[in-house]
Amino acid sequence: MDIAGSLLDAKKRLSHSNPDEATTDARILLQHILQCNRTFIYTYPEKKLTTQQAEQFAALIKRRSTGEPIAYILGYREFWGLKLAVSPATLIPRPETELLVEAALELVQQSNARVLDLGTGTGAVALSMASEKPHWHVDGVDSVGAAIELAKTNKNALSIENVTFFVSDWFSSVAHKQYSVIVSNPPYVEEDSEYLTKGDLRFEPSSALVSANGGLSDIYKIIDNSPNYLANNGWLMIEHGFKQAQRIATYMHDRGFQLVTVREDIQQLPRVTIGCWLH
Ligand code: GLN
Repeated sequence: MDIAGSLLDAKKRLSHSNPDEATTDARILLQHILQCNRTFIYTYPEKKLTTQQAEQFAALIKRRSTGEPIAYILGYREFWGLKLAVSPATLIPRPETELLVEAALELVQQSNARVLDLGTGTGAVALSMASEKPHWHVDGVDSVGAAIELAKTNKNALSIENVTFFVSDWFSSVAHKQYSVIVSNPPYVEEDSEYLTKGDLRFEPSSALVSANGGLSDIYKIIDNSPNYLANNGWLMIEHGFKQAQRIATYMHDRGFQLVTVREDIQQLPRVTIGCWLH
C-alpha cells in the first residue's frame, strides 16, 4: 500500500478511540516508521511502504487505538525545544509546564542562581532552565528511581552539564538550604477525578498525578517546607489545577510568602502560583 492509502486506513482505525486527533496521530506515527518529515508525507502520497514498514505501522496504530499516549509509543516528547526521552515511569511533559520555566527565567536575577526542581520526572523543567542559564546550577529530584534514571539519560543525551539529578522524596535528601528558586510540577489531581479515566492520564503513573486532600496534599507539603530551603528573597513556583489557584495563593500567603501572584496558561486558566520568601 502507498502512503496515502496507509494513512486513510490508519485514520479509520483510530477514529473510534480519538476522532479529533486520528489524522495527526496517523501521520506522526507514519513519519516515525519512515523516518521522514511531514513534507515528505505530503509530497510523495503514492510512495509504497515495504511489507516491513506496513507491518510496523499497523503495530503502532494498534497500540494507539488502545489509547496508549503518542509520546510513549515514540519514546520521546519535545519540551522547551528539547527532545526528551519519556517512559511510563513518569508524567509526559505538558506544554503548559513551560510556564514554570518562563517564570523562573524572568524572576530570578542572580547570574549564578542555585535552583531546585521538585518532582522532576523526565527532567523537563530542570533541563530547560539549565540549558538557558549555563551559570545556574539546577538540582532535580524525584522520589521515583526510574524517573531519576530517565532524567540522567536526558541530561547526557543533551550534554547539559549544570544539572544534578538525585532521588529524594520532596526535600528528604536535599542538603542545600539557600536556593534562589524552587519550582515544582507536583501531583495535584484529585483521587476520584473523572479526568484520570481519560486520554493519556490512563497510562501515566498515579504517583505523578494524584494527591490526597483534593489534590493539594503534596502542594501544601512543598509550601510548608520550602522556607527552610530558600535563600532570602528566594522564589517558590508551583504548577496546579485551574480550580486550585485561590486556595494555594491563600495558603502561601498565610505561611508568610509575599508578592504572591498567579500566572495563566494559554487558555487563560490560572495554573502557576508564585511567592517570594522575603525574610
Ligand atoms: N497537568 C497534568 C494534567 O492535567 C496533571 C499533572 C500533575 O498532576 N502534575 O494532565
